[in-house]
Amino acid sequence: MSDQRVYNFSAGPSMLPLSALERAASEITNYRGSGQSVMEMSHRSKVFIQIFEETQAKLRRLMNVPEGYKILFLQTGATGQFSAIPLNLIGRTGKADYAVTGNFSNLAYKEAEKFGQINVAASTADRNHTYIPSQDQLRLDPEASYFYYCANNTIYGTEWQYIPETGDVPIACDMSSNILSRPVDVSRYGIIYAGAQKNMAPAGLTVVIIREDLAGHALPYTPVMMDYKAMIDKDSMYNTPPCWCIYMLGLTLDWVEENGGVPGMEALKRKRSGMLYDTLDSSRLFQCAAEKPFRSGMNVTFRTASEELDAKFVKEATEAGFVNLKGHRSVGGMRASIYNAMPVEGVEKLCDFIRKFDREN
Ligand SMILES: *Cc1c(COP(=O)(O)O)cnc(C)c1O
Repeated sequence: MSDQRVYNFSAGPSMLPLSALERAASEITNYRGSGQSVMEMSHRSKVFIQIFEETQAKLRRLMNVPEGYKILFLQTGATGQFSAIPLNLIGRTGKADYAVTGNFSNLAYKEAEKFGQINVAASTADRNHTYIPSQDQLRLDPEASYFYYCANNTIYGTEWQYIPETGDVPIACDMSSNILSRPVDVSRYGIIYAGAQKNMAPAGLTVVIIREDLAGHALPYTPVMMDYKAMIDKDSMYNTPPCWCIYMLGLTLDWVEENGGVPGMEALKRKRSGMLYDTLDSSRLFQCAAEKPFRSGMNVTFRTASEELDAKFVKEATEAGFVNLKGHRSVGGMRASIYNAMPVEGVEKLCDFIRKFDREN
């Protein structure tokens, strides 16, 4: 079964650790003697509550989540958080600052505009989102209820290499595509969230890490499913949580733990992305999209000078077992998403393929 697997460079849903998939397979009809699949269990049962609590505890341990922060397992999708964040946080002053550095932060910004006065603290649209603004370039309003940014731009392939300084203004951050890929000082943030389908679990789970004092100030018309306070009070079980995804997250976190924790993930990230960027930089045909200092360690965007050649590359790569390398439809070219679960070997082999293609075309 596992030896027929392809190297999947999809931006999400994306590869999961093989050990997590195999563990799930072995437990799929009878979870550890319970006589049931995790898919069939009551979310209120003792056996599931244990899965839930252990998964929360593992994530807290791996990310060093300090006291005073809650971990929520929600179903909103990362996109649902584009609404939930303003609904819950903007009430303080009615204003918020957004850094627009790509597609998803732009969507978040547009959504937030429904709920208050939004200031674009920085936009990288002037150079087609190929860079990240420096601290000096951020136009910050000290009266903002929060500052919002997206830590890794999945489509454009850029990544913030620093946490902005915002004084007393809490930071809200979309870490969907780079969570668990580098150590993060959670205490610098008001709220961190991530759709699970990039670095953590199957689609259907959204992880939110929130400083508790930020909850409880939602706008009066906030739907209960978007109200952080309601979710905290019921420990993410106001309704049925995404049980299977939470279980899968637990298995992924076991794998992260066995592989050096988050520092181990960062070392692998550097190795994979370093190798791939070096290969592309020393090729004749390929150009990376992102400016060098801002390149993402998770989503590598690149292209040749011709769309025909790009299409040929994607086609031949697919035939060779490297799938989902086509760039996002909005930007074209190629994108190799090399999340935590992508084996180093997959990138080594892709680099060999790129060198061969470069010689032959
Ligand atoms: C994929 C992605 C999203 C959208 O996630 P959904 O769960 O599909 O809503 C948002 N932000 C970033 C950075 C992403 O990579």
